[in-house]
Amino acid sequence: MVSMRLLDKVAVITGAGRGIGKAIALKFSEEGAKVIVSDIELSYANGVAEKLKEIGREALAIKADVSQQQEVKLMFKQIERQFGRVDILVNNAGIRRDIPFHKMSGEEWDSVIAVQLRGSFNCAQAAQRYMVRQNYGKIVNLSSPIPAALGNRAQTSYSAANAGVEAFTKTLAVELGRHNINVNCIAPDFIDTEMTRNTARRAGMYLTDLKRFALAQIPLRRMGTPEDIANVVLFLACDESSFISGQVICVRGGP
Ligand code: NAD
Repeated sequence: MVSMRLLDKVAVITGAGRGIGKAIALKFSEEGAKVIVSDIELSYANGVAEKLKEIGREALAIKADVSQQQEVKLMFKQIERQFGRVDILVNNAGIRRDIPFHKMSGEEWDSVIAVQLRGSFNCAQAAQRYMVRQNYGKIVNLSSPIPAALGNRAQTSYSAANAGVEAFTKTLAVELGRHNINVNCIAPDFIDTEMTRNTARRAGMYLTDLKRFALAQIPLRRMGTPEDIANVVLFLACDESSFISGQVICVRGGP
């Protein structure tokens, strides 16, 4: 019998209502984790949690905007009441607001930093309390290669936020290492999700154009799937990778 790699681990995944986060939630469930499906959109989160329960796994949907520290604190209180511990945090929630730099308002700049970077801070700070107490934890952050393959011309805020997430990852790994907490980062690119399709739409491209772009530009000659990313997150969330920390792994079908 194949043993489950995350059996009974309590895993919090932000932005898990669709796309990459949803694929991570499914993968973790298949590997035996109890999954907290967190998203700013409760209906998305509920849909994913129901799916996990259908395959016989424990799951809890929670609505939380990661950029709001109070909402994040309340979410972790609820998790503590129900599960008593937190083993894994995946900071996956993120938004893009592609706006040419000269037109970008301060508020638009802040909104991207608030979700991607401040959101990662809010969740990691809440989660580490449990992880330090347990002397065990895995934090996986999601960033994006800089510059991204597509539509990077109007992504100054997104690039800055992601560079911040990568620096945050490395420094947090140094700070939390003595508590047996691994902190790593995955930088995916060109994954077939709503976020990529929206970016393409704004750039005036259709899915067929996107696929043609992928065939021409990506060494492995295809777009990535959410499952491609979930597989690497799983590796970083389980004990097979227990001597890897502070690393950024690009998952984009090429260097
Ligand atoms: P997506 O837009 O398809 O899904 C993101 C999810 O996050 C949605 O369910 C959304 O409701 C949720 N969310 C948005 N704001 C939130 C907030 N404030 N609080 C909580 N949840 C929130 O995106 P995706 O393509 O699945 O991307 C997931 C992560 O991967 C993001 O951090 C993104 O920057 C990163 N990424 C994706 C790609 C790609 O090619 N798709 C490339 C590079 C990086």
